[in-house]
Amino acid sequence: MPDVTVDIGGRAVTFADFTRLHVRCPYIAFMPQWDVLDFLAGKAAAYPSFRLLRSTEATDLIREAGRVAGVRATGPDGPLEVRADLVIAADGRRSTLRARASLEPGAASPPMDVLWFHLPRRDGDRVPFFQGGKGALVAIDRGEFWQLAYTIPAGAFEELKEAGLPAFRERIAALAPALRDRLELIDGWERLHRLAVRVDRLPRWHLPGLLCIGHAAHAMSPAGGVGINLAVQDAVAAANLLGPALLRPGVPSEADLASVQARRAWPAKVTQAFQVGILRDLYPKELSDDTAEHAPPIFTAFKALPPPAACTPACARSSPAPRARAGRRAADRSSPATPPDGRPARPPP
Ligand SMILES: Cc1cc2nc3c(=O)[nH]c(=O)nc-3n(C[C@H](O)[C@H](O)[C@H](O)COP(=O)(O)OP(=O)(O)OC[C@H]3O[C@@H](n4cnc5c(N)ncnc54)[C@H](O)[C@@H]3O)c2cc1C
Repeated sequence: MPDVTVDIGGRAVTFADFTRLHVRCPYIAFMPQWDVLDFLAGKAAAYPSFRLLRSTEATDLIREAGRVAGVRATGPDGPLEVRADLVIAADGRRSTLRARASLEPGAASPPMDVLWFHLPRRDGDRVPFFQGGKGALVAIDRGEFWQLAYTIPAGAFEELKEAGLPAFRERIAALAPALRDRLELIDGWERLHRLAVRVDRLPRWHLPGLLCIGHAAHAMSPAGGVGINLAVQDAVAAANLLGPALLRPGVPSEADLASVQARRAWPAKVTQAFQVGILRDLYPKELSDDTAEHAPPIFTAFKALPPPAACTPACARSSPAPRARAGRRAADRSSPATPPDGRPARPPP
């Protein structure tokens, strides 16, 4: 993705233009999470003590002498127990281990649903990363196809279905006219993958012998596409802070575990506050409310800036003439759309 362009009510604002960066790869490259996980598993395999149990589900905590001492799990060969000096719950937003520990997250934002779907992408397509107005649509360029996310109020999917597919297609066409010619490819509701989005946070990330990190400690929304950064940073902080404690005789103390929360809670909280600020006005609170444009205040603020300021990326080192850039975008947008090819829907990353 060469830049981040947001279109609210027909006016495009470029938040970041990576093509200005004097680096070898002046763009964002999207990578499916399973590739990242395979990469990490491959690197970890170099350590003789590393053991990866695939298709194995942690079902409960083992507790001994007032502390967590391992997990019970079910694998391909049946139930098993894994004992450990420290259990790290990195099992995501619906964490089983967190629930077994009776750790309750507090909600940080009202829930919303995201409908993910795919449409073919053609050379010359120019679709802004974010299109707001009557609803909100995020478009991720995946090379051969567009991965699209349409936000609706939580639980409004049934209402959307009752209104029918043509009405849904019209909602998308209003936000992304460039994709109108291929919307017929959404020929059934099974083309859409509904995902509930919730932003929440544990007040306390740990118990003796147990530490929650990533979404298990603080579920992020997809807004900004930074959730995995925070999850990986939690893991790095935990490794750096707890490594020495694990090398000592005995088990990590609660103070050791608290040091990880102390290090990581603030970035999670600030990022969530930013995401909640974006989400608050991103979509109509009622599906039927299509009378107003919905734009997060930060976008409105950017729209108010003169073009050169609005186009300055946080890490840019130079500023080419806005006219040349505007000309390039206009040329990109005027490219003719090509016919759809009928790719099937895929699940989100
Ligand atoms: C729709 C959507 C789009 C997103 N897009 C982006 C993006 O573009 N960029 C970005 O940075 N972030 C994105 N995020 C956020 C990102 O996905 C999360 O922040 C990140 O995946 C959290 O990592 P995690 O390891 O904490 O949890 P997860 O990635 O959810 O991993 C949890 C893992 O634990 C496993 N698991 C669950 N329960 C058990 C169990 N009982 N036993 C064993 N294993 C279990 C799961 O199978 C899973 O592999 C997006 C989120 C959503 C919802």
